[in-house]
Amino acid sequence: MLREDPHARFEDAFLRRRFVSGRREFAFISTRAHRAIVRDQEDVPVAVAEDAPRTWWMFRGRFFWEDDGLGPDEVRALLHERERRRRRRIDRAVDMMHADAAGDAPRRESLPEDVRREVFRRDGGRCVRCGSDELLQFDHVIPVALGGSSTEANLQLLCAPCNREKGADL
Ligand SMILES: [Zn+2]
Repeated sequence: MLREDPHARFEDAFLRRRFVSGRREFAFISTRAHRAIVRDQEDVPVAVAEDAPRTWWMFRGRFFWEDDGLGPDEVRALLHERERRRRRRIDRAVDMMHADAAGDAPRRESLPEDVRREVFRRDGGRCVRCGSDELLQFDHVIPVALGGSSTEANLQLLCAPCNREKGADL
């Protein structure tokens, strides 16, 4: 288990520093040792304290503890993976929000969420006619009234003006 420790910090104490996590206080270290930690943790996680089975790590200004006996590379890999998952979650949320906004257009049909998301992704979040990324709507290439289905293959992203134009052409 690897967790961020929001209660961890280095505490100043008359020409020395010591690492503190909540009410746990660790041995004093010299300002020189502290400077080395602060420098190194920009590149690689640095173990700053140990209270078995926990080890505390500092990495890019944040503190973490783990109790799996990890090495610096493993801590770094875990944090990297976590950050990637977090980014993916945010990207997905943004996509969904755009897809929802697009679906709020007039003539709303209840398209399944995964279909909307897939069409939105495939069309790059832009109107397939003019490339606009505003006022997007899900458009049936062949209208439902003419037998078109609500599948990815028959759906496309159009901005509202292009959609109106298309409607006028039909
Ligand atoms: Zn357009």
